[in-house]
Amino acid sequence: MTNNPHFPLMLAPLKLQHNELKNRVIMGAMHTRLEALPNGTQKLADFYAARASGGVGLIITGGYAPNTAGHLEMNGPILNDRAQIGDHQIVTRAVHAAGGKIFLQILHAGRYGGTLKTVAPSAIRAPISPLTPKALEAAEIDQTIADFATCAQLASEAGYDGVEIMGSEGYLINQFTAARTNQRDDEWGGSVENRHRFPLAVVRSIRANTPKEFMLMYRISSLELVEDGATGSQIIALAKQIEQAGADILSTGIGWHETRIPTIAYMVPRGTWTFAAKRIKQAVNIPVVASNRLNTPQTVEKILRDEHCDLAYLARPLLADPDFVNKAANGQHDQINVCIACNQACLDYIFKAKAATCLVNPRAGHENELQITLAKHPKRIAVIGGGAAGMAAASIAGARGHTVTLFEANEQLGGQLLLARKVPGKEEFDELLRYFKNRLDAHNVEINTGIAASVQMIADGNFDETIIATGVAPRQIELPGIDHPHVVSYPQILSGAKTCGDHVAIIGAGGIGFDVADFLSVLDSDDRSAKAFLDDWGVDQGLDAKGGLSPQGPSLEKSPRQITLLQRTSGKPGRTLGVTTGWAVKKALKRRGVNILTGVSYERISDEGLHIEIDGEKTLITANTIIICAGQESRTSLHEELTMAGVTTHLIGGAQQAGELDALRAISQGYKLALTL
Ligand code: NAP
Ligand code: SF4
Repeated sequence: MTNNPHFPLMLAPLKLQHNELKNRVIMGAMHTRLEALPNGTQKLADFYAARASGGVGLIITGGYAPNTAGHLEMNGPILNDRAQIGDHQIVTRAVHAAGGKIFLQILHAGRYGGTLKTVAPSAIRAPISPLTPKALEAAEIDQTIADFATCAQLASEAGYDGVEIMGSEGYLINQFTAARTNQRDDEWGGSVENRHRFPLAVVRSIRANTPKEFMLMYRISSLELVEDGATGSQIIALAKQIEQAGADILSTGIGWHETRIPTIAYMVPRGTWTFAAKRIKQAVNIPVVASNRLNTPQTVEKILRDEHCDLAYLARPLLADPDFVNKAANGQHDQINVCIACNQACLDYIFKAKAATCLVNPRAGHENELQITLAKHPKRIAVIGGGAAGMAAASIAGARGHTVTLFEANEQLGGQLLLARKVPGKEEFDELLRYFKNRLDAHNVEINTGIAASVQMIADGNFDETIIATGVAPRQIELPGIDHPHVVSYPQILSGAKTCGDHVAIIGAGGIGFDVADFLSVLDSDDRSAKAFLDDWGVDQGLDAKGGLSPQGPSLEKSPRQITLLQRTSGKPGRTLGVTTGWAVKKALKRRGVNILTGVSYERISDEGLHIEIDGEKTLITANTIIICAGQESRTSLHEELTMAGVTTHLIGGAQQAGELDALRAISQGYKLALTL
C-alpha cells in the first residue's frame, strides 16, 4: 500500500523474489504492427518509452514467435537469432532510460499461424483459419521447447527484464492443454496430465536457461469460452503446476480467438472477467494478473481491493493514454483519456494489416511525429462546432498556446457523440466527453454553447484562423408517405425527442441502423451488470463446465419491440461494422429476435407501416415507428457563407466529408490540423 490517497493499492510496489515492480499496472501485450513501418524499431521504442515515462510498472511487448512455424503471419515478429538482438536493444534501452521495465512475450501461434508451416498438437483446423496445421512429431515438440528457451535466452541478452509465455487465447500452448485441439495419444496428449506436459516443459526449460533475476510470467487461459475447453478445476491445477515449475507471475487470459462471446468489446461491462483471476489467485502463492475491460484507475483499485488479483493488465487503455499511471498518482485521474473499448483504431486496424493507433488518442503509434509543441506565434482561433472534430481541434490548439473560441449551436458539447453514448455499452463515450471538456477547460478555451456562429460573429471576432467542424445532418430520403407522423429520424429516437412504438422498421442497416436496433431491443431497466452479461452470453462461473460454457447456452432475451432492420443492397448485412465488434452486435440482435432484411426495395409508407418489395414479392412490414438511418450529409452552409464573404476556413470532420464519417476520422483530423496552425 502507498500513501497515495486515491489509488493506494494500484500504486503500491510489488516485491518479487529477485525483483520489484513499481506499481500494479502492466501494459499488456498488443501487436501494434509498428515494427513493420519504415523506421519501425525506433517507432516501437518511442511508443513503449512514452508508456514507461507515463509510469506504468511493466510493459509486455506484442508476441514474438520462437521459431518460423510459430509465426502468426509471414515475416511477423520473431526472436530466434542473435542477429536480431540489436533491434531489441533499441527498445529495451529506451524503456529502461524512461524508468520502465519490459518483458518480451513469446507467442507460438500454433494452428492460428498464417503460414504454410503452421503446426499444432493435432491436425485440426481452427474455425477462424483457412489452414489445416501439421501435427507436430515428438522430436519437433522437443525442438519447439528448446526454441522457447532459446528465445528467452536471447530476450535476456537483449536486455528484457523477463518474458511472458503466451499460454492462453488459443495459441499453441493452449492447443496442447485443451482436449478440443489435442487429440494425441502419446505422452503429450490424452490425459489432463499429459496435456499439461508441454507448458510445464516450456516453463522449466526457460527457467533453467535464464538468470534467476530474469522474470518469467506465464499467461494462463483462465476461462476458455470454447467447447471442449478446460474446466475451471483443470485450469487451477495447471496454475499450481506452473507455479511449481518456476513461474514468478501468472497473468490470466480470457477466451480464445475463436470464442463467440465478446471478451473485450464495448458491450462487455468493466471488470467482467476478474472472477476467473480470483479463483487462480486463491489457489497459488505467486502474484496473479487480471485482464480485459479494466480501463480506469477506479476499476483497477476496486479489483485489487476485492482481492481478485495482484496486478492489472491494461493494453488498450495505455494506447489511449500513456500517462494513465502518472495522472492517477498525481490526483489527475479526471484528465485520463479513457479507452472506450471501440477497437476501431487498434484491433480493427491490426486485422486490416494496418499499424495500430487509437480513436481517442491519434498520437498513439506516432509519438515522434505528432508532438504537441507551443506555437511560435500564438493566434486567435475560432472553432465552429463542438462535436468530436471541433473539440479535438480546439483542445489541441489550446494546448499549443493559441487563444481559442469554440461555438456550438446545441446547449451541450458532443455532437454525434451525444447520440452514440445512448447505445448499450457505448456509455463509454461519456468518458471521452468528460476528457474533452476537461482539456478545453485546462487550456482556457472559451466555450459558447447554444450559439450558432454567424459570418458577422466571425468577422467581429478578428480571428486569425477559422475551423469549421459543423458536422452532419441525417440524410433525408424520398419515398411516398415519408411525411407520415410515424416516420422519425435516428437523432430524434436516440435523443429521446420522439418515443418509439412497439413495431419498428429501420431504413438503413449501416453502423447507425445497427446501433438504433441495439438501443431499441433492450430496456433502460435491463440489468447491465457483469453477472447479467455472463448469464446472457452463457458463461458458467462454476469450476466444472468445459470451457466455462453453460450447458444451456446463451439466453434468448426477447426484444421489447418487434424490430425489422432493412437495407437495399443484397448480401451480408453489417459489412461496415467493426471487424472485432460487428459479429457480437449481430449475434446479440439475433438473440433478441431482431429481423434483418436485405435486397429490399422501398415502395411507400402508410398507416399500416412500410411497404417493400423483396425477391419480387410485395410485403408490408407492420410498423408504428419507421426510423430513417440512411447515412448523413455534410452541414456546410456556414462554410459556404464564410467563403462568399472572403473568409478562409479549415473544413474538418463530417462537414468536410459525411460518407464513412466516424469519430476516429473526426478526432484525428481535428488533432492533426491543430498541430499545423
Ligand atoms: P452508413 O454506414 O453509410 O449507412 C447508411 C445506410 O443507409 C447504408 O447502409 C445504405 O444502405 C442506406 N441508405 C443510404 N442512402 C439511402 C437512401 N437514399 N434510401 C434508403 N437507404 C439509404 O451510415 P450510418 O449508418 O449513418 O453510419 C455513419 C458512419 O458511422 C459510418 O461510417 C459508420 O461506419 C459509422 N458507424 C459505425 C458504427 C459501428 O461500426 N458500430 C456505429 C455507428 C456508426 P443501402 O443502400 O443498402 O440501403
Ligand atoms: Fe481503446 Fe478504441 Fe483506442 Fe482501441 S481505438 S485503444 S479500443 S479507445
